[in-house]
Amino acid sequence: MKLHNFNSGPSILPQAVLTQAAEAIINYNQTGLSLLEIGHRTNWFQEILQDAKDSVKQLMELDDAYEVLFLHGGATTQFMQVPMNLLDTKATAAYCDNGVWGNKAFKEAKLFGNVQVVADSSDRQYRYINKGFPIPEDATYLHFTSNNTVEGTQWHTYPDTHVPLVADMSSDIFSRPTDFKKCALIYAGAQKNMGAAGVNLVVIKKEILGKINRPIPTIMNYQKHIEAGSLMNTPPVFAVYVSMLTLRWIIEQGGLAEMGRRNKTKSELLYNTIDALPLFDAPVAKEDRSQMNAVFFLNDPALEEPFLALCKQEGMIGVKGYRTVGGVRVSMYNALPMESVQAFCDLMHAFAQKHA
Ligand SMILES: *Cc1c(COP(=O)(O)O)cnc(C)c1O
Repeated sequence: MKLHNFNSGPSILPQAVLTQAAEAIINYNQTGLSLLEIGHRTNWFQEILQDAKDSVKQLMELDDAYEVLFLHGGATTQFMQVPMNLLDTKATAAYCDNGVWGNKAFKEAKLFGNVQVVADSSDRQYRYINKGFPIPEDATYLHFTSNNTVEGTQWHTYPDTHVPLVADMSSDIFSRPTDFKKCALIYAGAQKNMGAAGVNLVVIKKEILGKINRPIPTIMNYQKHIEAGSLMNTPPVFAVYVSMLTLRWIIEQGGLAEMGRRNKTKSELLYNTIDALPLFDAPVAKEDRSQMNAVFFLNDPALEEPFLALCKQEGMIGVKGYRTVGGVRVSMYNALPMESVQAFCDLMHAFAQKHA
């Protein structure tokens, strides 16, 4: 049976990337060595790292005001590392609380300085994105989560502010054309839309560093990582390699314009199907719907279990909603083909007919 992989993360990767990654584990580039057996300071790995950085800069259209780092740990590490590097003890950072991940981020920041939550959509179960809220001019930065993976909302226009923007783009990075220059710091765990778990992409506008008094442990210090060219210590070599392959794949496919076109087509098909079938309900505000993660429910809760059972039977992987949200979540990252969304929509129609 053909499987359709709607996992929320780690999630589907392009088949070509998996094939190349598998070959590299056995025999990297005909060297006779596994990628897992070569030093991170060899020319071989330096080329991989450079290729990955160049691809990021190309896709983001960034100049030398920005540095690209590949660091250890998931996005959760950045919840701590961002304020440790940017937020002085007596200063205030502004945070948007629009979901599970943003909520964790601001709680971590409180360990380092003052935090003002300037946007909070928890009053309606995080089912919308706040708009037109005031941001204090003297805030050190404004942190937001560009796509709320768990709740299925996405910022379709980034906050407009003179305060440096810090974005957690873990679940929609490189999914559509984006004005990355609006942000002073961008981070993303690789395992949703960019590669294998174990590495973070961190992109920093250099001018925001060096402004605080706190001593920073070396391994947590962005400036030191920049000076070491992401090679302060052994990077997660294999995870960097898979990201490099995925970035190349995105460029070969036609870059962010093409990713955006595909993701729009896929998500429109799914949301149109949900809206057309009275059995299903997507409670997220329409203008804030995520192109990456669609969250919806069965109007009759008793039908949820049989629906999920049918999904399982038909090879639809990973569509159960997040444990605190429930319902159904369909993740449609870059590598998910249109035919998988079509197959899922066909299944929804069949289920609706049976239970009409
Ligand atoms: C998955 C996710 C995280 C957490 O990533 P880890 O790599 O598990 O630390 C953080 N932010 C967002 C938006 C996510 O989707």
